Amino acid sequence: MATHATVEAHDTNDEFNPFLSQQEGFNTAADHLGLEGGVRDVLSMPDRELTVNVPVLMDDGSVQVFTGYRVQHNTLRGPSKGGIRFSPDVNLDEVRALAAWMTWKCSVVNVPFGGGKGGVICDPRSMSIGEQERLTRRYTAAILDIIGPDRDVPAPDMNTNDQTMAWIMDTYSMHERKTTTAVVTGKPLSIGGSRGRREATGRGVMISANEALKMVGLRPEDTRVVVQGAGNVGGLGAMLLHREGYKIISISDMYGAINNERGLDMPAVLSHLKTNRTLEGYGEAEYVPKGEGQLEQECELLVPAATENQITSANCDRIKARLIVEGANGPTTAIASKALSERGVTIVPDILANAGGVTVSYFEWVQDRMGYFWTEEIVNSRLEQIMVQAFQEVRQTSEKHRVDLRTAAYILSIDRVASVYRMRGLFS
Ligand code: NAD
Repeated sequence: MATHATVEAHDTNDEFNPFLSQQEGFNTAADHLGLEGGVRDVLSMPDRELTVNVPVLMDDGSVQVFTGYRVQHNTLRGPSKGGIRFSPDVNLDEVRALAAWMTWKCSVVNVPFGGGKGGVICDPRSMSIGEQERLTRRYTAAILDIIGPDRDVPAPDMNTNDQTMAWIMDTYSMHERKTTTAVVTGKPLSIGGSRGRREATGRGVMISANEALKMVGLRPEDTRVVVQGAGNVGGLGAMLLHREGYKIISISDMYGAINNERGLDMPAVLSHLKTNRTLEGYGEAEYVPKGEGQLEQECELLVPAATENQITSANCDRIKARLIVEGANGPTTAIASKALSERGVTIVPDILANAGGVTVSYFEWVQDRMGYFWTEEIVNSRLEQIMVQAFQEVRQTSEKHRVDLRTAAYILSIDRVASVYRMRGLFS
């Protein structure tokens, strides 16, 4: 029987339930901290979960109802912050886990936000642009009461982008009767976006990799990298690592991977991807369809940057990388993470490694509220400063508590949120 209050997960005792993975990380760290009962209960449960069913007029004249969620895990340190994803696989446990990870992520990099996340069950690839716009606007209208620059600030995630954010900003502004740019981040530059936001998560992955390399005594030019995912995080992350001198020997998308032992020319790969919308057909590499053990290749650094549950108890024994830098959220299950750590593999956890995106989202929110916009150099140098500091703080916490970097990141972030809770006290 659980000693503390818990949120009922849909699928209990399941390695692939990201909410349970998140709870496992939280509980391990809370045990190390000796977190007292009341605080522990408050922080292990989401503050608020909203489910909406929104009707959308489709191009053929029919009306289809889509289910969406917005979960606000915690707002103790500031407005909740977190992306909105469109995917057929979205479910409440996934959104809950992602919302909680956002609380811990914002706290690891010490930006004044809590954690939230949203998702809509849909397949945007089978929808026209008009259908996507109408869905985005109705979903925004349905969650309107709980979002806002001081309440909850969405951002892009899987299958949503700067255009989606522009529609959300416009819908919110129409209801508010004034242009409110700070309601979302990840917007186009022309409507209050920040320079450097598009590359920010990939840049954070690169900074994390640089710091991790120093820890294990490797140089970029001696580091072969395998990247899973060629989107905002994987594609741009691989490009920035390539520019730093790392050798990208493999990158994949949801259909397959391209491999080249001599190293891929990333600008050429991304330009091929932009034109063809698939990695297949890129000339200077071998193409391997999905499912052919991409993650298990010989390499020094593995960057999973696609989706959850990619490194699991089923394949973790075959992973050969010395270092894993998690670009995606939850790419390694709790069981696999423990097994790899015990084998001496260094894992830079998602809540640290991919925090570059939310850090520059914070910069965007600040710039929108100031009405004064920074140069890309300022954005990038402030991002670097925050990421390096967070990395060093996590590393020091791991040495102090003799735990791996994932547990250390949870310890650091939970401790920060818990101390704010104690300071603010309980409203009753
Ligand atoms: P995206 O939609 O831009 O790209 C996803 C990429 O992964 C695509 O190339 C897709 O083809 C590929 N992919 C999907 N499933 C795959 C699979 N099973 N095997 C191989 N490739 C697969 O999404 P993104 O914004 O790059 O997000 C990727 C991950 O990073 C997600 O977990 C997201 O939550 C996380 N993340 C994103 C940001 C951000 O700023 N975009 C910030 C922090 C974390």
